[in-house]
Amino acid sequence: MKRAIFPGSFDPITKGHCDIIERGITLFDEIIVAIGVNSTKNYMFSLEERVKFIKDTFKSNPKIKIMTYQGLTVDFCKTIDVNFILRGLRNPADFEFEKSIAHTNRDLAPIETVFLLTSASTSYISSSIVREVIKYNGDYKKLVPESVTIKL
Ligand code: ADP
Repeated sequence: MKRAIFPGSFDPITKGHCDIIERGITLFDEIIVAIGVNSTKNYMFSLEERVKFIKDTFKSNPKIKIMTYQGLTVDFCKTIDVNFILRGLRNPADFEFEKSIAHTNRDLAPIETVFLLTSASTSYISSSIVREVIKYNGDYKKLVPESVTIKL
């Protein structure tokens, strides 16, 4: 069975992430959306909220799982016996950043990183833009799946 993890912070999950996951699942038998937990990072949404948003979004698709992890992504892959990392590419800046991570991961473990180019319609979306829109009371709903809601 071909399994991949799709790692990230997902603070919060966006329509851009959903696009990569939905297209990725045509290539893999199972995708594990893996939330990396970094204790020094300040998140807008708690880990529980981020997990819930993703679970609710993909509740009808048993091929999409969700897990959380700490430490190196390749170590997590080894722990759960996954051989592929899925990542999305939006622009040249993403490419340069992802290239160095993928090379480093490849040095550390025999795990392949598979990249999907974003769909044109969601290529401008990032979690940081969504957080900015939320902060200033903008209409963030267009940028995220329906499951993402903010507590007032
Ligand atoms: P990180 O904390 O690693 O930046 P993110 O949650 O921001 O995590 O992103 C996780 C993955 O989703 C990355 O591969 C990123 O390039 C990809 N991604 C983020 N936004 C989009 C988008 N709009 N379209 C496609 N891929 C995206």
